Amino acid sequence: MATPIALLSVYDKTGLLELAEGLHKAGVKLLGSGGTAKKIRDAGIPISDVSDVTKAPEMLGGRVKTLHPAVHGGILAQSTESDAKDLLEQNIQPISIVVCNLYPFTSTISKPNCTLADAVEEIDIGGVTLLRAAAKNHARVSVLSDPRDYTEFLGAWTTGKLEGNAGQALRSGLALKAFEMTAAYDDAISGYFREQYASADLPGDKLVGPVQRMALRYGANPHQKTAQAFVKDGKLPFKVLSGSPGYINLLDALNSYALVTELQEALNLPAAASFKHVSPAGAAVGLELDDVEKQVYGVDDLKEPLTPLACAYARARGADRMSSFGDFIALSAPCDVATAKIISREVSDGVIAPGYSNEALEILRKKKAGKYCVLQMDSSYKPAAIETRQVYGVYLQQQRNDAKIEASLFTNIVTKNTDLPTSGVTDLIVATLALKYTQSNSVSYAKRGSIIGLGAGQQSRIHCTRLAGTKADLWWLRHHPRVLALPFKKGVKRAEKANAIDLFVGGEVLEGGEKAHWEGLFEEIPVSLSAEERVEHMKKLEDVACSSDAFFPFPDNVHRARKSGVKYLAAPSGSVMDAECIKAADEHGIVFAHTNLRLFHH
Ligand code: 5GP
Repeated sequence: MATPIALLSVYDKTGLLELAEGLHKAGVKLLGSGGTAKKIRDAGIPISDVSDVTKAPEMLGGRVKTLHPAVHGGILAQSTESDAKDLLEQNIQPISIVVCNLYPFTSTISKPNCTLADAVEEIDIGGVTLLRAAAKNHARVSVLSDPRDYTEFLGAWTTGKLEGNAGQALRSGLALKAFEMTAAYDDAISGYFREQYASADLPGDKLVGPVQRMALRYGANPHQKTAQAFVKDGKLPFKVLSGSPGYINLLDALNSYALVTELQEALNLPAAASFKHVSPAGAAVGLELDDVEKQVYGVDDLKEPLTPLACAYARARGADRMSSFGDFIALSAPCDVATAKIISREVSDGVIAPGYSNEALEILRKKKAGKYCVLQMDSSYKPAAIETRQVYGVYLQQQRNDAKIEASLFTNIVTKNTDLPTSGVTDLIVATLALKYTQSNSVSYAKRGSIIGLGAGQQSRIHCTRLAGTKADLWWLRHHPRVLALPFKKGVKRAEKANAIDLFVGGEVLEGGEKAHWEGLFEEIPVSLSAEERVEHMKKLEDVACSSDAFFPFPDNVHRARKSGVKYLAAPSGSVMDAECIKAADEHGIVFAHTNLRLFHH
């Protein structure tokens, strides 16, 4: 058998001499690139230079060392007659072991004074080629890309364990490691190039066209200084028309935009969402508002006639005015003047839409002295089918939740009452789609094409059901004639009114300064709603739809939902208490659809 050959070319020379010594003693012929060969030779271990094999000197200041058919033919040749013939004809020796690690690109670019030229020079070409060639041919060749593997490999080589299945398993593992290494290396290079060549560095007041990468001010918190948004292929699917989005803004924008496009697709009506902390505070489709609703949603004084999109946003924004304070808005259709006018007078962080009329954009650009974030989404964008994230250093990957929420989801009605009208289906679609983009656990209530109460991110289902139910109750109490007639003083700000109304309908007992402040907002101090008034009014809340992102574990959820006027209920089946939950729904005459679709979102 011919003498096996090992090619060594390493930047990190840790453990190199021990390995070289061991291989030499085991009868392996050593071949090395410039610095590697020198270090081994200086230690008294025999080694040939790669240039002896290539018959070409290292050139271009080290840019070309091992890039030669004599090297790569020797690595890539398979154990076949035809490859053996080729090698013989070209006088090339087969190489059995490749030992290589790469120029330290990542640590070079993290040095504060690293120039672009420094970084470029640190891109290892030949080493990556050696690793990839050897890893590709792992049926025959062993590739060592990590000094921590030298001892185990040497042990296996010297004891003959590289034969048979065990040998193949070891070579396969080493090949995988080499490919992970070259992939990470290329990732670091493309990340650096993205930063240099494909970025818009925000904040800035310039109009930024589609870019591949966007630097963000910071991550979730100001001390998380490194933050960016990027795609690996093509351009980011949105452009910044005004302001500068932050990390959480983008989480809100991308989730909420997905929700509104799906709402519009499912119901064929313009849709809007008002997001806070990556869950909807409100979401709605553009059903026309009646006069009371206009008042409840705070748009009765708007001079501009309400368009369907404006109705959708008024509903989304007005359902839970307190939670929507400082929201991120998504619109499924190009923003018009009426919608922009509603947005312009609310406290909000930003908006994403597939387009803006010139006048609407002018209105929004003036908001927050030009700092209001306006994003334009590419409406033809399709997200990748697989999504990947990293948590605590571990990659998690899953298929995107592409479940379609449509009327057919609610056909498996399991209660005695099966009368589900079109309006009920619309509301169940709104309620269920909102859950698809709400942090779990979640339960939502909807009426008239709008979320009226949503409980997000609770660890127990009944707490979601209660939280969402309480919000729906407060929403409904805001329709009470005495609330609509609250005698606010002139000049009280919209947000302050919303807070004051919330305290009034919530029945909070106020004391001291807080009480004095609250009372000071009115021309005349309002008398609290009595228990009887509340009960009477709540009786009129009917035909509410309620959806749950997972099954109801106990019938208490059904009973609680009913207290907020729920008539149409949707949840997956699968609970040991399913029968009890159906019984509870029957007791209240509720129409309950089992969806068989869990919608956890994190
Ligand atoms: P040495 O210290 O042996 O002179 O260089 C070892 C380094 O050179 C290793 O990190 C290896 O990845 C890299 N290398 C091997 N072949 C080539 C080549 O042809 N071009 C370049 N630029 N680097 C190479």
